[in-house]
Amino acid sequence: MVSDYAKWLETQPPIHQQIESLVRYRCWKCDLIGPSCLDPPNRQICLKCGERGPWITHPLPGARVIAGQCFQAQERDEGELVVILFCTMFEVMLEDFLDRLMIRLRVPKDTREFILQKFSGVKTRLDDLFPGLVGESFKRITRDTEFADFYDRWHKIRTERNNFLHDEHGHVSAGTAKEAVDLIEPCFRLFEWLNNTIIVEAQHRRVN
Ligand SMILES: [Zn+2]
Repeated sequence: MVSDYAKWLETQPPIHQQIESLVRYRCWKCDLIGPSCLDPPNRQICLKCGERGPWITHPLPGARVIAGQCFQAQERDEGELVVILFCTMFEVMLEDFLDRLMIRLRVPKDTREFILQKFSGVKTRLDDLFPGLVGESFKRITRDTEFADFYDRWHKIRTERNNFLHDEHGHVSAGTAKEAVDLIEPCFRLFEWLNNTIIVEAQHRRVN
């Protein structure tokens, strides 16, 4: 069965199709990220809590727009822009994850805002805030998963981005730009896995 969404998507530019084919649905109630946007017959009922929607797309539209621009910059061979956009996309998705995790942990809104301001940089959010909320470091929790090398790959891209932006002799290599583009899809899946492993389970513990 071909959905209206899938039919519409066929009319879109290839890059847009590439991004949208990665988009999935998150249950508004239990946060489980489940079916692909391309598979609407399966999204009628949440596999975990039985809700029937409304559904929230994963990633959020802002991150998807940046991902699309990242692909387009790579096609124009603008490596510096590719790594800047990739790092921004990662930061957007990390903030969404941390904020929603704090909501599940019943952290009041003012406190969430205070914490995100206090841990304002992406490095301190990943290295300090993440283990503080999750109970394990990012590298440790991903150690035995397909995302085991994600931190190091992200860190190398971010270092080159920072060197380009802040160092007179910094530049972005073609290899690093390609690496950033290659890491977009794993990044989408990483935050889906973190969501389903940590946020959904945090709610599960709270409910029971
Ligand atoms: Zn649900």
